[in-house]
Amino acid sequence: MNKDWTEMNKEMQKLLSKETTFEDAIGKLIELRESLFAQITQIVNTFPEEAFRQMPFAGADGYHSKTLAYSIWHIFRIEDIVAHEMIAEDRQILFAQGFDRSVHSPLITTGNELSGNEIAAFSEKLDIMELYRYAREVKQSTEQILLHLSYSDLKRKFGEDMIGKLQRSKCVSEDENAAWLIPYWCGKDVRGLIKMPFSRHWIMHIEAMQRIKNRLCKLARKGVDPIAYCGLSCNHCFLGEWCGSCRTAYNTCSFATVSPDGICPNAKCCMEKEIDGCYKCDEIETCNKGFYIPSNDGANAAKAQALYIRKYGKKEFLKVLDRLHGKYDFSKAQKILGQDYREGLRILEEN
Ligand code: SF4
Ligand code: SF4
Repeated sequence: MNKDWTEMNKEMQKLLSKETTFEDAIGKLIELRESLFAQITQIVNTFPEEAFRQMPFAGADGYHSKTLAYSIWHIFRIEDIVAHEMIAEDRQILFAQGFDRSVHSPLITTGNELSGNEIAAFSEKLDIMELYRYAREVKQSTEQILLHLSYSDLKRKFGEDMIGKLQRSKCVSEDENAAWLIPYWCGKDVRGLIKMPFSRHWIMHIEAMQRIKNRLCKLARKGVDPIAYCGLSCNHCFLGEWCGSCRTAYNTCSFATVSPDGICPNAKCCMEKEIDGCYKCDEIETCNKGFYIPSNDGANAAKAQALYIRKYGKKEFLKVLDRLHGKYDFSKAQKILGQDYREGLRILEEN
């Protein structure tokens, strides 16, 4: 489990136990959810549509055996039902804001009843951007509900009436893999619901989403030229764990994720110039784009590596990096090469 999220969750639970720290608990919970939701936003903004339907861990035991689309749907359907049917007792966001139509989901349930290929087929149908909008609206409305709670509300319990109401809503399937949810939720008080669907449930599924996306990136990189457009080697890059290479649709490198169009400026420029990489460009020594922006610590190291490729080719470059990485880890190697790009080139030539 992600250490930061686990720590924040623990702290939130501790704060939730006393009236004097109740408001701090809600603040901590919202902070935790912001951090978790940022992961979803990043995935939606940077991954191609096809990624949301894939099951790279199909058949595995655990939340990572699902798809990215299913994970988002499932987290926020559960939250919408619990927050609105149970705690606020008003209309679910799914129906109140028309997401039951715009997301194109064939279901209104939580999806617990689906398995294997059914999850993949279900995911195929969803409009991902609408699904993301739905998730964001649910998140915000839940947080409004949380901010209006008082400490005494935490002890509120749910009885037979609520069980009947949830059953009549048809938002939980009668399938045995789903039906247990209703007695499970109704066996908790509001405090218990905060601890599970609003926090821990997010952590578990979002961590699983990270595993799915990292695996998809690894698969995308298979058989692809390991030299990035900027001159770095994906085989040696510390981001290789979660970046699918700037030469694939899974281009989730740091500069791609912060670029408005989701493409690293070096990759985009090379594609426009129809060249294999910045090492083929005459402007490289004075270029300030993307990875080469002077404020980037790695700019000189990337340039040094691109210049080495220009002089000696990719094969030799990968060999020299293997030797360098035999002595230093990625960040140390980049530091050594990054003082000055000419000096970096000289160091590469000497290794
Ligand atoms: S950040 Fe760049 S070098 Fe690193 S894996 Fe991604 S594309 Fe490759
Ligand atoms: S101008 Fe800069 S970013 Fe564009 S190809 Fe040349 S070196 Fe690369």
